[in-house]
Amino acid sequence: MSGTPAAAPNPNDPVTVAIIGSGPAAWTAAIYAARANLDPVVFEGEGSREMIPGGQLMFTTDIENFPGFPEGIGGIEIMQKMKDQAVRFGTRVVSENIVSVDFSSRPFLLRPSHAEPVRAQAVIVATGARAVWLGLDNEMRLAQTGGGVSACAVCDGALPLFRNKVLAVVGGGDSAMEESTYLTKFASEVVVIHRRDELRASKVMADRALSNPKIRFAWNSEVIEVLGDDAITGVRLRDTVTGAERELEVGGLFVAIGHKPNTDFLGGQLSLSPHGYILTPTPWRTTTSVPGVFAAGDVIDDYYRQAVTSAGTGCMAALDAERWLAHEHVGDAVSPVLETAESSVGRASGD
Ligand code: NAP
Repeated sequence: MSGTPAAAPNPNDPVTVAIIGSGPAAWTAAIYAARANLDPVVFEGEGSREMIPGGQLMFTTDIENFPGFPEGIGGIEIMQKMKDQAVRFGTRVVSENIVSVDFSSRPFLLRPSHAEPVRAQAVIVATGARAVWLGLDNEMRLAQTGGGVSACAVCDGALPLFRNKVLAVVGGGDSAMEESTYLTKFASEVVVIHRRDELRASKVMADRALSNPKIRFAWNSEVIEVLGDDAITGVRLRDTVTGAERELEVGGLFVAIGHKPNTDFLGGQLSLSPHGYILTPTPWRTTTSVPGVFAAGDVIDDYYRQAVTSAGTGCMAALDAERWLAHEHVGDAVSPVLETAESSVGRASGD
């Protein structure tokens, strides 16, 4: 995303709230934290082939399910607007990755890729998750240009370019079953391409897909090439048993071979789920296993994975951080809204 000059944080002067990430959760957290005078600093990351500042929406052309945009909005455009909104309220932005952290004492220590280490009183981790891609040349190019390749059926499946087409879904897990079943609403036919002859998916999800008359399975098949210039026209498949190759004409390709949360840089200092997502054990709170460290967005969510849910938890994380800082008597943090809500609950219940 186009940058905003960063007033680099002074290494000797802890920032009040550091936010790591640059998807909907991070910018929403920044908007709330900035408006609460918490002077947030967002580490938005650096570009790489798989991940660019702005997160997964940067790979999405049209977003039609984010409320407030009745005509839809481009993924890059909405992320720029979120960032602009955060900057408007004074958010400082640093275009670096955080490569490691030390949460063992406070203020917490964050080590950016190039700049001096930064200390922070509270940290919001909103580093998202990355879809796992096949790694084929044309796959990422067509995913970024709206050419009919996607890693999210719920996000993109209803777009006009996929209507009444033969759509392929790669994978044999629950995601692939869920996405293929969902896509039958729009597609003329869905072909699930799986590299084995046995599904990994749970029985209930597998049975639902297997019994759907609009879904057929290409077993023992792997995609070795994505075909098409402006838009996908097909895929080249290789039989994983015989090695035989063939082409399959498709009007869309949905890659559903898993997601990987971006939590490696945490070095095991927060409790994670077996799949690597940050655990937020208290229902409806974004608190993690370390007091003062909060988490939001897809890095805590292997289930909904939507821009709007991500933004929602970003809001929650900023409010949780504000409240925690107020409790710890740090800076200007006060949380009148939440205090009022809680005390009114207490009053209503007679406490
Ligand atoms: P997953 O269970 O890890 O399945 C990934 C699938 O992709 C596997 O079938 C795997 O094949 C295939 N695959 C992996 N790498 C591949 C490659 N390079 N080329 C071709 N195929 C490849 O991932 P998931 O389906 O995203 O599910 C992740 C977790 O979320 C699971 O615990 C799942 O139960 C859960 N989930 C639940 C729901 C639900 O309950 N509604 C929906 C979605 C996900 P192999 O089988 O050969 O390894």
